[in-house]
Amino acid sequence: MNIILMGMPGAGKGTQAAKIIEQLNIPHISTGDMFRAAVKEQTPLGVEAKSFMDQGQLVPDRVTIGIVRERLAKDDCANGFLLDGFPRTVPQAEALDQLLIDLNRELDHVIYIDVAMDELLRRLTGRWICRDCGATYHAVFAPPEKEGVCDHCGGELYQREDDRAETVANRLKVNFEQTNHLLAYYESNGKLERVYGALPIDEVSKHILSVVRGTVS
Ligand SMILES: [Zn+2]
Repeated sequence: MNIILMGMPGAGKGTQAAKIIEQLNIPHISTGDMFRAAVKEQTPLGVEAKSFMDQGQLVPDRVTIGIVRERLAKDDCANGFLLDGFPRTVPQAEALDQLLIDLNRELDHVIYIDVAMDELLRRLTGRWICRDCGATYHAVFAPPEKEGVCDHCGGELYQREDDRAETVANRLKVNFEQTNHLLAYYESNGKLERVYGALPIDEVSKHILSVVRGTVS
């Protein structure tokens, strides 16, 4: 089973990935892990990738795709894989298609965990931190007893710049634009399956598993 899992930050991709790989017994291949492993093993491509990262530059697609190719050729991918964080762009998706042809494999599913912007904002911007003791709260999931005040020490709660609604919204907007191109690509070749992601975790998992097992279309 060869799967790509897509979703915005805050859509619950990591949680769902863990459930899918457990059920299907396939490796979870995330871009970050793949790069770290290639760098650590000092493969020629890993060394090359590191030289770009050390200079604060984007790793070129040629290198990234080479690393994906090496990873997918490993034994543990014999029964399939769950790709997470790759591809990010349409050119990368096209390169992946070619790579899979070379490896004599085919994508089975591209699953997009669909969560609307306002729900993502609700999930991602609710973090508050105590100035005095560092305790963290979430406005929705773990609120303090009294708004703006730490339960533990009575300290004042604040939001980091990264957790503020405007910062998060800007980041998501860029991400959505890029993702929409990719979704259109996979929609046009009939691979895309959207799973509604604003439900409890287990409901979302059930839906994803029914998609990959072919019990719903
Ligand atoms: Zn505190």
